[in-house]
Amino acid sequence: MEYSKLFITTLREDPAEAEVISHKLMFRAGLIRKLAAGIYTYMPAGLRSLRKIEKIIREGMNNAGAQEVLMPAVQPAELWEESGRWDYYGKELLRFKDRHGRDYCMGPTHEEVITDLVRREVRSYRQLPANLYQIQTKFRDEIRPRFGVMRSREFIMKDAYSFDTDNAGAEESYGKMKEAYNSIFRRCGLKFVAVEADSGAIGGSFSHEFMVLALSGEDEIAACECGYGANVEKAEVTHDHVEPDRSCTPGLQLCDTPDVRTIEEVADFFQAAPHELAKTLVFTTDKGVIAVCVRGDHEANPAKVKNLVGANIAELASEEDVRRATGAPTGFAGPVGIKVPVYLDRALRCTASFISGANKADVHYRNIVPGRDFEPAGWADLRFIKAGDPCPRCKTPVTVARGIEVGHIFKLGTKYSEKLGAVYLDAEGKEQNIVMGCYGIGVGRTLASSIEQNNDENGIIWPVPIAPWEVIILPLQVKDEETMAEARRIESKLEKLGVEVLLDDRDERPGVKFKDADLLGIPLRITLGSRGLKEGLAEVKERATGIESKVGLADIVPTAFQWVTERR
Ligand code: ATP
Ligand code: MG
Repeated sequence: MEYSKLFITTLREDPAEAEVISHKLMFRAGLIRKLAAGIYTYMPAGLRSLRKIEKIIREGMNNAGAQEVLMPAVQPAELWEESGRWDYYGKELLRFKDRHGRDYCMGPTHEEVITDLVRREVRSYRQLPANLYQIQTKFRDEIRPRFGVMRSREFIMKDAYSFDTDNAGAEESYGKMKEAYNSIFRRCGLKFVAVEADSGAIGGSFSHEFMVLALSGEDEIAACECGYGANVEKAEVTHDHVEPDRSCTPGLQLCDTPDVRTIEEVADFFQAAPHELAKTLVFTTDKGVIAVCVRGDHEANPAKVKNLVGANIAELASEEDVRRATGAPTGFAGPVGIKVPVYLDRALRCTASFISGANKADVHYRNIVPGRDFEPAGWADLRFIKAGDPCPRCKTPVTVARGIEVGHIFKLGTKYSEKLGAVYLDAEGKEQNIVMGCYGIGVGRTLASSIEQNNDENGIIWPVPIAPWEVIILPLQVKDEETMAEARRIESKLEKLGVEVLLDDRDERPGVKFKDADLLGIPLRITLGSRGLKEGLAEVKERATGIESKVGLADIVPTAFQWVTERR
């Protein structure tokens, strides 16, 4: 490929809105362009990398026995009503009507569509197991699209769905996908971990997330030397309960606390440590409004709150719901006298009494004792794990690191097959629910994550398997016929060997060409200068290590070929 014919513009400036390095570099290297918030075009160079990731994913999926299909992006509302998700998927689901006034959505995921397909096709246990996947465009109306294609609204996902006759089969399918994902992300050159995860809005019984380790990651992972790893949303917090003696705890006391709201302000006011306080948070869920108390130095975990009451949604209540539950503005909720059920985080068992809001503006209670001053609806693990908390498996303190979720696998069980009636006839001719799993990979997010992990101040550093081109040939004097003839000779020989080459035939200053080669991140650079040519030498430079060497012209092709094939 000749650079002069490539549709690309590289830029020296970062886009103003870019917060993370991959977004900056993808924009500057001309890999993507923005159409609207969270909606991007992949430019030719970017698309080459994206297609390579897709190819790696396809091969991984096909090897694991999955078969490719392509489902529609537009999905009828009826299916979502059957699964129950039309009502609770929320605003991420982009809904619209067709000319007949029928409701549709842009598919954010395809459980409904695939389950509908399978319930129509599958009759007998003989047709199972089956695993179907697609690489297709999804739409999610993300509340805050950001980081370029990492959290966009329109994005390409590989989604796979497995169908088995029983639980054991479903677990085997799940295991195969876990293995396939490991090999896919390894081939993409990523440093990643698979961690236990909450099963979220898709639901189901258990799941793992594949996390690329990066400081810019939006997720937090708790990890332990023993091999335990979990998203902090999911990670259990274990406490040794030592019930304190509450016999001498003074009685409940109402205190005026003018203009005191935040935990720090309350702690200051009462001259208490944050762990002697309790935050009371009101949550709106599809199972009703509830309140949750966690220690002042802990954070309530909405995923755990949701699972506690078996809800599909649990979010911090609006000002209006808070007022209804407490009779006070936000910031003064407390467990005593609140009008909704209060659940307590288990850590509060170890405190004799605590301070919390009194459901009235500018007042707090001190010496609150659960069971004496109010009746808890229940005790549960409701907080986020923190660095230093004991590992739920071995009790060693865990560490917390940041990660980007590139893939997610779920064991769904019969959640969708029951709702949509996806059944098969077993060997005895009895109708049974199909047991499902679902498995996603964000293709664009995988690409962006690779850049997050592989870059320096000069630009992208692609791992060979997903680089848009493997080699860049950089003739310094394009007007010099001999130089160009040599460059084209190397290009055509390498291409014949199947190496992907970008030939920078532009009549630009060497500095400009070097900068662009670095920014674009092509793994191997071959520089041809007229002086070197006279000595029969070219310069070969590895983008990743910066190592340069002089190579005889006769050896350039075999050297580059070997270098590339060893890294594919
Ligand atoms: P997140 O927690 O990041 O929103 P999710 O749990 O909603 O992700 P899944 O529904 O499991 O994601 O989707 C499968 C994969 O699709 C994710 O692992 C991720 O790689 C990718 N993905 C999800 N949302 C986006 C998005 N807005 N932009 C780009 N990729 C996405
Ligand atoms: Mg999401």
